[in-house]
Formats: sequence, C-alpha cells, structure tokens
Amino acid sequence: MVVPGISCGKCQFCREGYENLCVNRKIIGFDYDGAFAEYVRIPEEAVSFGNVKKVSSSLELTSACLVEPFTAVYNGQNLLNIGPGDVVGIIGAGPIGIMHLLQARARGAALTGLIEISSQRLAEAKRFNPDFLIDSSNEDPLPRVQEMTAGLGFDVVIVACAVAAAQRQALELARPGGRVSFFAGLPHDKPDALLNTNYIHYKQLAVFGANGSGPNQYGKVLRFLESGRVNLRPVVTAEIPLEEAIRGFEMVMKGEGLKVVVHPN
Ligand SMILES: [Zn+2]
Repeated sequence: MVVPGISCGKCQFCREGYENLCVNRKIIGFDYDGAFAEYVRIPEEAVSFGNVKKVSSSLELTSACLVEPFTAVYNGQNLLNIGPGDVVGIIGAGPIGIMHLLQARARGAALTGLIEISSQRLAEAKRFNPDFLIDSSNEDPLPRVQEMTAGLGFDVVIVACAVAAAQRQALELARPGGRVSFFAGLPHDKPDALLNTNYIHYKQLAVFGANGSGPNQYGKVLRFLESGRVNLRPVVTAEIPLEEAIRGFEMVMKGEGLKVVVHPN
C-alpha cells in the first residue's frame, strides 16, 4: 500500500515526530493524481521516504483499504491516551465513529458506545455491538450518560461528525478532568461553533484536535491489523468496480451503508 501523505522528514514537525503536521506535506490525490485508476504513479519522494508499505497476506485487501482512516483514528486516540478502564463516548456513528469504537475497545476501554441522530446509522452501528447506543433524535444523552457513569460523565468524548452542536455537547458530556477530541473538522465555509467554554475551564478538560496521520504511524497500525485483533471488514458495506465509482460516491453522500471500496479491475 501507499501512504497518501508525503512528509519532508526535515522540518521541525517531522523531526519532532509529528509528520502529519509537516509544513511541506504533499498528498497523493490532491497534489498528485489519485488512485481511481488501474495504475497509479508513485512520486519518487514517496518511495524514498518509505511511504510504500508491505501488507502481509494475513490482512485481506478490502480491510487494508481502511488503513488510512484507521491510522488517523490511531493518531487521535494516542493524543487522548485511551486505556484500560476508560468510558468512551463517541458522537457520530458513521464509518469513522465505528472505527473509533473498534480501536477504543482494543485499547482496553471499559465501556465504549455511540451517540447518533440518524436511524439508518443507528441500525448499522448495532452490528458492532457497542456497549451503549443512544438515539439523540428522541433522547437527551446527558441523563443517560450520568446514569451510566455515577453522575460523572464520560472519561473520553470523541466527536466523529462535522457538527458544531456535537462539539458543544461533547464538552457537556465529559467528566471533570476528562479528555475530548474534536476529531472531525467543521465545514470550511461554516467553521464557527458556539461552545460553553466554562465546561473546559471548570471541569479542567483537555480538548484535542486531530489531523490525519503521519507515515511513521502506519507501520504499527498495519502490524496491529495483521494480528487480526480488530476486523475492519464489516465496516465495508459495498464493493464496486472502477466503472461504477460515481455510484459509490452517491452511496456515500446519501449515507447508505458505511465504507465503499472501489476495485481497479
Ligand atoms: Zn516536514
């Protein structure tokens, strides 16, 4: 596989291990032609920087297609330092929210569940056996979360949807001393959120961003997936040939299923 983000390895951020924040970063699919083709040209700097990774035969290719988002999830959860005993609430049960669920569980979280507004997404999420699933279209999540956590709130809240109101809600649902990730960026033309920052102040919350992942993080995630401890295959709900790629985009835009994989031939 090829890691799409090409870092320079020389800037301050690369040298400090934050290759995803590289100031000279180039991305295959943006700065170079992408992969919706039978053959893809790999830029020389990507090869020399080690962006070409070997995928073991123990990891089937359909699951390997999700290494990029799963490594972004890994980057976000490293910052949150999710570990044994944590109660983790994830707002948004799309494919990214589901991947957060799977990874938090693998890191030893005591309880991991999802909050979602769409009935379609809620139905899909049930297949992944979350410890709790809150339908926020007809239930205020706060009393339920308080009941689950002896009135404290979640240890960790991850916002896996591009919704300002969800960012606001995350601060409310976190326990004192909790950690919050604004994992999804808001739309570029509407990036403002109305937040009660007193929650951050009085509850002494740690609020993290998350921006993709660096080439240096892929090796560990590949080995983890090759171990079989997490199966990403059920996150892929449709596989289609290259000629039908447009239909795949339409399915994703309508929120039909979770991830769509396009096969080159
Ligand atoms: Zn750099």
